Amino acid sequence: MATIGFLGLGNMGRPMALNLVKAGHKVTGFDLSKAACDAAAADGLPIAADGAGAVKDAEIVITMLPAGKHVVGAYTGTMNLLGAAKHGTLFIDCSTIDIASARTAAKAATDKGMLAVDAPVSGGVGGAAGATLTFMVGGADEAFTKAKPILEAMGKKIVHCGGAGNGQAAKICNNMILGISMIAVSEGFVLAKKLGLSEQALFDVSSTSSGQCWSLNTYCPVPGPVPTSPANRAYQPGFATDLMLKDMKLSQEAAQDNGAVTPLGAAASKLYELFAAQGHGGMDFSAIVTFLNGTPGKAP
Ligand code: NAD
Repeated sequence: MATIGFLGLGNMGRPMALNLVKAGHKVTGFDLSKAACDAAAADGLPIAADGAGAVKDAEIVITMLPAGKHVVGAYTGTMNLLGAAKHGTLFIDCSTIDIASARTAAKAATDKGMLAVDAPVSGGVGGAAGATLTFMVGGADEAFTKAKPILEAMGKKIVHCGGAGNGQAAKICNNMILGISMIAVSEGFVLAKKLGLSEQALFDVSSTSSGQCWSLNTYCPVPGPVPTSPANRAYQPGFATDLMLKDMKLSQEAAQDNGAVTPLGAAASKLYELFAAQGHGGMDFSAIVTFLNGTPGKAP
């Protein structure tokens, strides 16, 4: 069993850290927010006085933080986790961040004699609580081999996607596909309504025809056809529009930086941005259908 320092005990990090404890690991947590520390402590997680305290005895350091600047800052800034940890410690960053920051953080870690992987997740808060996350991992073979059994305590599928940053690359490519496909499905329903075609009829046809996809078959944006989809509970997330917007923006930054042509990604990103700017960023991203049908944010 491993000694683990866990930084970032928010919506995702806290249940992930608790699953590591459940699997028998010795975990010490820390978060800049006292409220987050208190909530994790109330669940039985030992909390350090600061970041250095959480990592000084660790063989493995896991971060689950908001954005790239937080990860690079925690590794090399005033918190200086790379200075506080023992030589050879494995750093696993599970945050969803931009690829350039992921590669900067990994290089800073390996330059200091550490092992490092980026390992962003899909599966959301439910997957974090149930230890059913999918991890997309970027990093050297040795680091991946050491990270895998640790990630298995928090998830059910662990995929090695290549070198440093490639976990983030897989995550944002997947979520760009998802963001676009949800809008495509929503447009289908908006047009069907204008044509006098029922939502159920379109679903029955498209979910078994060439229009089928996860956004339609599993996460249908209109209420009725798929009873478990957020559309049936007033678009409570699920996966909030603000988080989808974050990932869409990361995909567009990466596309621009690397000369990829993604016009539908750009258009989809803009639509989620407009919807969020109207104050609906907390709704599930499938509520984009309400923006397209002219009743933004109005749950059926
Ligand atoms: P959150 O805001 O609930 O938690 C982030 C925590 O990090 C906060 O408690 C914050 O105080 C803490 N933090 C920031 N800088 C820190 C530092 N230097 N040291 C210690 N703690 C620090 O966010 P979340 O929903 O848990 O998401 C975390 C990451 O997971 C994000 O990158 C997000 O994009 C990604 N993600 C979230 C979901 C989801 O459904 N919430 C799904 C997949 C991926």
